[in-house]
Amino acid sequence: MKKILVSNRGEIAIRVMRTAKKMGIKTVAIYSAADRSAPHVRYADEAIFIGEAPSNQSYLLGDKIIQEALKIGVDGIHPGYGFLSENAEFARKVTEAGIHFIGPNPASIEIMGSKLAAKEAVKTYNIPMVPGIDEAITDIDKAKTIANEIGYPILIKASAGGGGKGMRIVESEADLASQMQRAISEATSAFGDGSVFIEKYISSPRHIEIQVIADTHGTTLHLFERECSVQRRHQKVIEEAPSAVLTPTVRKKMGEAAVKVAKACDYIGAGTVEFLLDEQQNFYFLEMNTRLQVEHPVTELITGLDLVELQIRIAQGEPLRIKQEALKIKGHAVELRVYAEDPANDFLPSVGTLETYHLPSGEGVRVDNGFEEGMEIPIYYDPMLAKLICYGDSRAEAIDRMIRAIDSYEVKGVKTTLPFGKFVFTHPAFQTGDFDTHFVKKYYRPEQLTKVSEKSAKLAALIAVKKYLEDQQQLSLPNHGIEDKNAE
Ligand code: ADP
Ligand code: ADP
Ligand code: MG
Repeated sequence: MKKILVSNRGEIAIRVMRTAKKMGIKTVAIYSAADRSAPHVRYADEAIFIGEAPSNQSYLLGDKIIQEALKIGVDGIHPGYGFLSENAEFARKVTEAGIHFIGPNPASIEIMGSKLAAKEAVKTYNIPMVPGIDEAITDIDKAKTIANEIGYPILIKASAGGGGKGMRIVESEADLASQMQRAISEATSAFGDGSVFIEKYISSPRHIEIQVIADTHGTTLHLFERECSVQRRHQKVIEEAPSAVLTPTVRKKMGEAAVKVAKACDYIGAGTVEFLLDEQQNFYFLEMNTRLQVEHPVTELITGLDLVELQIRIAQGEPLRIKQEALKIKGHAVELRVYAEDPANDFLPSVGTLETYHLPSGEGVRVDNGFEEGMEIPIYYDPMLAKLICYGDSRAEAIDRMIRAIDSYEVKGVKTTLPFGKFVFTHPAFQTGDFDTHFVKKYYRPEQLTKVSEKSAKLAALIAVKKYLEDQQQLSLPNHGIEDKNAE
């Protein structure tokens, strides 16, 4: 490929273009009226205006994007995540236009886009699944029977759901009918598909997912796990690789199961197989995401691989030159999604202008960012500003670097998840690895954010005193011991 268009915006558009540039490939950005001066537009070699700010008038206009791409000789389209990335029809049309779609085959997207079709596809592969039914259900009486068999609490899920949406927990039979009706109408309006099904609600699960990668020559590999249990609204905020708790045996089993899931749908390219892990380290298949995942950088840091480069090479028909046995986990990586949200107010989006915006840097610190100082945060899209990713030889070192990086990440003008991140990374449950998907509900109280910042203020004051005393020492007589005594 010589010219790649990224049908996306923000950090992921830049992330993809960075690798394309490294590979000597020309880059094309698309933008809406809200993104005229966005960094991803300036970063690209060329940029195409698509339409008005709402995504259904711009970033979701597949046909228009393909038309414009053809006009300027684009030979590859990378969809990023969100928007058109899991739209099988778009993938098909891109290919039909003679352009490489940098992602899986439309058929795999279709199967895995439906949680029910996904379960059906992997059925014969002996993959453990959450107890439940594997078909859409509308009949309340039937639902009652099934729920009684499974045992409450149960979870009603939208088959076409995504992004943490379309799920309802039902604690007892009394609530089943009303919750089911709500779930069906929500699924219909949000995903255009009212199919819902029932799963056992696992009470204390960890979200563990496996990165897979497959070429067009029959090789399918797994690149170990990511732990994404720290969530709000069933959506990830903090991720890490490897998981703090997975045993090598379970890791291997999950990796093999993920490869089977990928093979079940003839998967090509980078994908993620999501599982829940219970307290006994039993794992259950949840779903497969047929795209580059938001949290892919933590996998890149522990494997040394560039996932976007692999995606591009695979789309060009190149074989994977890596062997499963040769893959090793090296070090530890943690990621914080920096959202423009107010963690003190139910994580509601925080709109405004980035009056101050300074990114942290330093050894082991990577920021995949899509914003800059002075920019307004558009209300039309996902409010993620950046991903802060830290690497270390050990988990403790990665966490330590993360805490420092959060402290030197300066944002004024909007509220962000940075203080929340600090809360989590300094929390004993996180630090010891003893947590599940209920971390936020169990431990997080917004009042605690002020405590964390008071603590950092105290720490900052101590550092200032120490620095002052050190300067004094340089100026006056050496006075050993004084700095320690005062700093403690
Ligand atoms: P990941 O699974 O990659 O960690 P998320 O589940 O947070 O990430 O989703 C990634 C992006 O895609 C987010 O911007 C989210 O809003 C969007 N997204 C995911 N699934 C859907 C869906 N079914 N409908 C609409 N948006 C979705
Ligand atoms: P989405 O498509 O929205 O990403 P998932 O099926 O991947 O939906 O589930 C998202 C999150 O919801 C999981 O990471 C987990 O926290 C929670 N969840 C999903 N299914 C269950 C379940 N059966 N029991 C408990 N929690 C669940
Ligand atoms: Mg999921």
